[in-house]
Amino acid sequence: MPLRKRPWSNSIFWVIISAFFITIFANFTMFAKANTWLIGSGSNQLFIVVLALFQFLLLLFFMALLTMHKWHRHVLAIFYFVAAFSAYFADSYGVIIDKDMLINATETNLAEALGLLSWRLIFYFTFLFALPVFVIYKVKIILQSVSKRIFYHSGVALLALVSFAFILLASSNFSTSFFREQKQIPFYSNPLSALYATYEITHKTFFSSHKLFKHIGDDAHISGLHKDRELVILVIGETARADRFSLNGYKKNTNPMLSKQSVVSFNNVSSCGTSTRISVPCIFSIEGKDKFDLSKFKNEENFLDVAKKSGVNILWRDNNSSSKGVANRFTYEDFLSPRNNPTCDPECRDIGMLSGLDEYINKQKKDDIIIVLHQMGSHGPAYYERVPESYLKFKPFCKTNQLDQCTDEEISNAYDNTILYTDFFLSEVIDFLKKYDDRFETAMFYVSDHGESLGEHNIYLHGMPYFMAPKGVTNVPLILWFGKNLIQTENLDMDLLKLKSNKPISHDNVFHTLLGILEIETGIYKKEKDLKSLAIKK
Ligand SMILES: [Zn+2]
Repeated sequence: MPLRKRPWSNSIFWVIISAFFITIFANFTMFAKANTWLIGSGSNQLFIVVLALFQFLLLLFFMALLTMHKWHRHVLAIFYFVAAFSAYFADSYGVIIDKDMLINATETNLAEALGLLSWRLIFYFTFLFALPVFVIYKVKIILQSVSKRIFYHSGVALLALVSFAFILLASSNFSTSFFREQKQIPFYSNPLSALYATYEITHKTFFSSHKLFKHIGDDAHISGLHKDRELVILVIGETARADRFSLNGYKKNTNPMLSKQSVVSFNNVSSCGTSTRISVPCIFSIEGKDKFDLSKFKNEENFLDVAKKSGVNILWRDNNSSSKGVANRFTYEDFLSPRNNPTCDPECRDIGMLSGLDEYINKQKKDDIIIVLHQMGSHGPAYYERVPESYLKFKPFCKTNQLDQCTDEEISNAYDNTILYTDFFLSEVIDFLKKYDDRFETAMFYVSDHGESLGEHNIYLHGMPYFMAPKGVTNVPLILWFGKNLIQTENLDMDLLKLKSNKPISHDNVFHTLLGILEIETGIYKKEKDLKSLAIKK
């Protein structure tokens, strides 16, 4: 069965061209990262060619098989779309489009999406998606008979697979050591990594068994010994890294306000995940980092349910994207829009979440209160937009979301300004609580969901697989403030707690510390994970 004289009228021709085009033009970051390692390790740079062949043949294999039918053009268009999207994020921010990133993208609201819009993004979509797809829809592809299509497409797929295996064997000495040392390289393979992630998500969504809703802490109740009411404000931070707080030893003064409050700042705290979507639910889950599974989380109770069972009044105020499922069964107020938030210029500020809170507290006539404030915090890449003008103190700062157009210093300054604003916000939360010190046992608990990579190893933002995340992403700030009433009744030694603030802890401690502060008694409470117990003299 010979191909027609004009090869471009066959669909398989465009499959081969597309696999080649995407390999060469949409995998710049993968090649650059591999090249850096090859130079650094004194290896032969020619391995880049081998890597390109691997990518080309594997992509060709999948593309040939998936385009046997008459909708082949649409499938190719999807490949180009995913490739353009992933290439933009990989080349601009060094991030990988994996499972978590894809779900993040679908949960991103319009404001966040606009925050990423740029000329560069338009260029990527024109060159890597619109142009090639235009050509493919424009050329005349003659649809062959079913048998011919199956013959050519499976033939090319088979040839690609055999060549792949052959090259792998021929280069096995080097390939094995390369992929062992450079585990993250396959994650940058575009668009294969993103397509694999899509498969993972569909598989989980449609084939995971629907289990019964899981209840936890059914025995929870407030200890009879304690008559005082608790008022706790839990602040869930966004994208804050511990090493940018001067409380933790950062050289710039990013904590002028908090340093005047009697807070205890833990500086060795590891996050559960590297994205909001994982970390926020995980903080409230009983499972902890090792056992946390997002697909199960939606089907089980979390910390707030346990608090509810003990009679605690619960309010969630959100200036982020959402509670990520944590507050689904509780009072939830959106502070991203001026409808609830009085402090918008035009971006709605975290401080607006304190407005009207007095009314809420006064309305709760009995039982304890926990208020969760979910910050916008340091959400990037447009850090400079996160703060009102008066907080743009560290200069010069990066004034674009295109971080590679800014110097390291400008990025740092833009980011540090967001920490400065969070410092002000947290200090205001503490001052707010002080008004209630006589009526309640008050406490402020601040913890960030994950940190941020600010250009270390040329990686920006967050959300990468945990094992390859830089320390800036997984080392998060955690700050505690207890009111005088709580300190007295519980006989807490805050100096002792300060002495222990270097102790390695994690998001796993949040669940049990909150149970401890609210004096909730239940079989699931683990005293050794309650940070408050560190302040009690043995
Ligand atoms: Zn986050």
